[in-house]
Amino acid sequence: AGPDRATPEPAAVPPVPTPSTAAGLEAERVSAWFGKRKVLDRVSIDMPAGQVTALIGPSGCGKSTFLRILNRMHELVPGAALAGEVRLDGQDIYAAERRLTDARKAIGMVFQKPNPFPAMSIRDNVLAGLHLTGVKVAKADRDALVEESLTRAGLWVEVRDRLKQPGSALSGGQQQRLCIARSLAVKPRVLLMDEPCSALDPTSTRVVEETITEIAQDVTIVIVTHNMQQAHRVSDQCAFFLAAHGTPGVIVEHGSTDSIFENPQDQRTSDYVNGRF
Ligand code: ADP
Ligand code: MG
Repeated sequence: AGPDRATPEPAAVPPVPTPSTAAGLEAERVSAWFGKRKVLDRVSIDMPAGQVTALIGPSGCGKSTFLRILNRMHELVPGAALAGEVRLDGQDIYAAERRLTDARKAIGMVFQKPNPFPAMSIRDNVLAGLHLTGVKVAKADRDALVEESLTRAGLWVEVRDRLKQPGSALSGGQQQRLCIARSLAVKPRVLLMDEPCSALDPTSTRVVEETITEIAQDVTIVIVTHNMQQAHRVSDQCAFFLAAHGTPGVIVEHGSTDSIFENPQDQRTSDYVNGRF
């Protein structure tokens, strides 16, 4: 035997990422521009750790732009600019010394249109986020991570026997849950969801809502939704965005979900949540 055989190699990579702990996000006076056009004006809101925050409001009022600012995707859009601060657990995510990948690792994102890698196997799709964010998981721990992530996303039972099939073999609702599993595998502290159920059937919608409620203990959730019942069911607090004709989007009102639905302070909030818009 060679000289090194007796001593086991120290593990080169850590095991499954440590369980995530939800982190609070705070936006302070966030403004955004595309070229000369201002689309958000001084948006401030706390999104407390372990809570679900729903962003509601008509199309075009800047909800998606705001979400992209929360994980530093906005800065990748040509011509896009922003002002203000975003803090994760009190730390400015845009501080010069912080790297883009740090924000990406801690803050996951799920989009309206499910976007699994269609030719990649279901299993590899779950693990794909690790490569994209530079998180290393030992080979021996990957099966456990795949099962855990798919279980949390409510998809494990449906796909456990077909993990080698391509992502494209799944229904739309299953693909969206696969994307949620891909995000969760990285153990994010915050998950941003941009109309995650808009393209889904009612059954998948319900499963995704159950997932949100379950994971909210260890992942702070910010969800954009046009479905008022959904906002009511899943969120702890709501923020109502509005862009009056030609003006940048602002938060008209935010507060506990109960207060926004039962006792809104602004007539425009009342009109919107009651479908009079
Ligand atoms: P919402 O998600 O609430 O529908 P968005 O954040 O998508 O709103 O859009 C806010 C405003 O910014 C809209 O007027 C939209 O046309 C504009 N906008 C969004 N993305 C871009 C972009 N990449 N380039 C230029 N304008 C954009
Ligand atoms: Mg949008």
